[in-house]
Amino acid sequence: MRKRLSLGTKIPLVIFALGLFFSLVISAGTAFFFQEILTDDLVEQSVLGAEDKSETLVRNFEHYDLFSAMLGTRTRVVEYLVDQSEERRAELQGIFDKYAAKYPEVLSIYLMDTTGYTHISTDRSFLGKNYGFREYFKKAVVGTPDVDAIVGVTSGEFGYYFSYPVQSLDGTVLGVLVIKISQDSFTDPIFHGWLAKDNTLMLVDERGVVVSSNRSDRFLQSLSPLSEAEKHAFSEGQYYAGLEIQPLQYVLVQDAIDQYAGPTSVRFYDEEDGETEELAIEKISDYPFYLVVEINVDRLKGIAFDLSLAIGAFVIAISLLMMVLAYRLVGHFLLRPLKQIFEVVRRITKGDFSARSDIRTNNEFEDLGRALNSMSATIEGYYDDLNKQVEQRTSELRIKNKEVEEQQKAIVNVLQDVQLEKDKVLGLASDLEKFKLAVDNASDHIVITDPEGMVLYGNKAVEKITGYSLQEAFGKKAGILWKKPMPLEFYQRLWNTIRVKKTVFSSELTNKRKNGELYDAEVSISPILDGNGNIKFFLGIERDISERKTAEKKIRSALAETEEKSQKLEAENAKDEALFANIGDGIVSTDNQGKIMMVNDSALRMIGFSRDEVMGRPFASVIRLLDEQRKPFAEGERPLDKALSTGMTARTQSGRAQYYVRKDSTMFPVSVIVTPFVLKKKIIGVIEVFRDVTFETQVDRMKTEFVSLASHQLRTPLSAINWYAEMLLSGDAGKLNPEQKKFIDIIYAGNQRMVDLVNSLLNVSRIEMGVFAVDPEPSSIKEISETVFDELQPQITEKNLKITRKYDPALGEINLDPKLFRIVVQNLLTNAVKYTAEKGTVVLTVTRRKDDVLLSISDNGYGIPKKDQDKIFTKMFRAENAREKDTTGTGLGLYIVKSIVEQTADGKIWFESEENKGTTFNVTIPLAGMKKKEGSKALS
Ligand code: ADP
Repeated sequence: MRKRLSLGTKIPLVIFALGLFFSLVISAGTAFFFQEILTDDLVEQSVLGAEDKSETLVRNFEHYDLFSAMLGTRTRVVEYLVDQSEERRAELQGIFDKYAAKYPEVLSIYLMDTTGYTHISTDRSFLGKNYGFREYFKKAVVGTPDVDAIVGVTSGEFGYYFSYPVQSLDGTVLGVLVIKISQDSFTDPIFHGWLAKDNTLMLVDERGVVVSSNRSDRFLQSLSPLSEAEKHAFSEGQYYAGLEIQPLQYVLVQDAIDQYAGPTSVRFYDEEDGETEELAIEKISDYPFYLVVEINVDRLKGIAFDLSLAIGAFVIAISLLMMVLAYRLVGHFLLRPLKQIFEVVRRITKGDFSARSDIRTNNEFEDLGRALNSMSATIEGYYDDLNKQVEQRTSELRIKNKEVEEQQKAIVNVLQDVQLEKDKVLGLASDLEKFKLAVDNASDHIVITDPEGMVLYGNKAVEKITGYSLQEAFGKKAGILWKKPMPLEFYQRLWNTIRVKKTVFSSELTNKRKNGELYDAEVSISPILDGNGNIKFFLGIERDISERKTAEKKIRSALAETEEKSQKLEAENAKDEALFANIGDGIVSTDNQGKIMMVNDSALRMIGFSRDEVMGRPFASVIRLLDEQRKPFAEGERPLDKALSTGMTARTQSGRAQYYVRKDSTMFPVSVIVTPFVLKKKIIGVIEVFRDVTFETQVDRMKTEFVSLASHQLRTPLSAINWYAEMLLSGDAGKLNPEQKKFIDIIYAGNQRMVDLVNSLLNVSRIEMGVFAVDPEPSSIKEISETVFDELQPQITEKNLKITRKYDPALGEINLDPKLFRIVVQNLLTNAVKYTAEKGTVVLTVTRRKDDVLLSISDNGYGIPKKDQDKIFTKMFRAENAREKDTTGTGLGLYIVKSIVEQTADGKIWFESEENKGTTFNVTIPLAGMKKKEGSKALS
């Protein structure tokens, strides 16, 4: 027998097979397509990165070029070469030594005469040696400055040699000045960051030899095989200390360099390792060097492939989802109606003819259902007829039976009635007694008169309300007794109603007590008629309502007052609402659970939701807040949560971008202030005001980029001013008179401040653009702090300050970027020293705690005025007392310190200060230390 497969299995199987086939085809296609595009894009990024690095190198070469020129034009140098006296030699040696000590990257400074003989050198082993065979010497001695990257014959150490021709006033070359710069100062700026991490960078000289590379096996290898002539020239010139230069098989690059006409990139397939590579080649301005960046295209392709694979997987996932949907639809449109029809047929088979199908699919199933229904209706009709006939017979029989039963019952009933009548008469007598008691004691006053109004009966309340005793009232006319204080028409209407119309008269009225006092009452008088409709008595019931009336009056006047107040309130509300709706900022208020209670139109416009979509919903579930890295804030960290939990105003941090996500998932940078409502010491909700700061953010970014560019450009001219001022001060251009010296001193100090300012500005812009690198290594806070104290010693001695330092013996090493942490300690200690008067005290304490290290720097100096304390970490802010006492600050130090502490290590910084008493700054760094971060720039 063939195996039976139900439709419910067959259809999903077909859908699944087809769906899987198509989604595989589509995702493979998409993956392939995206891989191409992504690879190209990644390669382009790397080529741009290479351009950036080559610019950095150009600046570096220019810097040392200028340095050698500055030294080579110094009068002392010229004068020495002219008379070559021992005295001048010793003086110049001192000057050179001073520069070498100040700039550690300068390996040596030396001076040769025109034969190449070395007269003066900071590296004493060069003295008396002749370097006339050197290329850089040969060029400089004929008047052209040069730079070469080679291995020293004496020191055996590799370096960059900048030569400069020392000339007399008439232009004759008297000798050659050379500075030798360390490899590090060229490699450090370019071998940092993502480009160097993933690719091979090579700085190649004109001879085609790699003079530095982030791959150590490339160092001093040539791009293409050397010819015999080249080998000879290399050993003749002793460029590379006789080292064997191996070829690297980069003939292609060598060709590109030989025919260099501008930045190029070539792609080639490396047969050796079977990889495709892109080589970007950039000349370093007019210097005889080229930067070659080898970009591994296959690796980028791999990354692109992984990304495309993820996209493919996404497409398959979506297709699977669609299949499930299709399966559900088939179930809905096909299998369900089938099941329903089957159910109806099953019930009819079992004899339930009322079974009907209610399929409303508007297709063949509905027709089938209807046919089935009319079939079961016809059967049901036949069945009903049969039933009716049987029923009719049965009911005729039942009627006969009943008649007999009822005759029996009638006899029993008569007997029961007789007994009941007897009970009733007895009951009536006792009821009457109860009734009289009730009337006598009722709180309303009740009077019965004859048809003429003569009092026949009065209950106890008559005496209490009117003041007349019952004896007084009996036999008197009711009207005379009550003295008729109402107008005459009232009594006419009363008599007319009860005597002529013979109906009940009810009204409120004013009556008089026996003692003449008026009171308000509610009265109802009913005529009691006999069987012929003649009046037999009048029954009057009256209730004293004076108290109720007074209360009513009070309520009415209170109501009027409330009405007036509520109108006023409404008018004020309308004004508030108009204000609320028309404000440009977004305003949202929530209850104490953070659920939205109110929201204005501006807020809705910014976030793209309608009012109905947000009302009553938790704020955080409607509007998501993202941080700088576009990651959602943790619960409890949003300003709204903080305001709700602390009861204090909370806001987004200035200086850090934060974003709100709109309904359509786009986002915008936002600034938020949340203020809690507090009622009877309880937080009952918050009001949040927020603003789209897209424009401000753009302006801010443009400003930061401008500052970065401007400061960078300012550095080189500032270095030149620095050197030349130093030259003038050391008497290079002749002895200065005291006034000249004073002026140059001022220029020198002013320039020094400018250098500090430019460095600080650069740091600030690097922090704000997020491009600075963090490179943690196990470091000793004690060692770092001690170097800062050494540096500050001159100021400490000058002010005669007492310094105390307490390092926790259990401190150990912490993972820190030593340069960045030094900036922190240096700023805080410099401030403590700067803002403390002579003979003051500065205390540094470093303590290791459970989770972090606490660094405290206290002084007993000028302190920070209370009113300035909340602004102290803002850029360019300096308190007034600080500006008066010390005019040299930039107001950027603490901003940089706070940024480093918070951004690199999740640390904290805070302070306590009292004016004229002193200040303590505290910094904590978690024991985990700083987190590594790639970046193209370092802070200085
Ligand atoms: P700068 O010192 O260059 O002015 P900072 O950013 O380092 O800039 O400091 C900002 C301001 O904070 C200072 O101008 C000063 O008003 C105040 N300040 C910082 N440290 C101290 C301190 N130890 N004592 C008193 N005031 C201080």
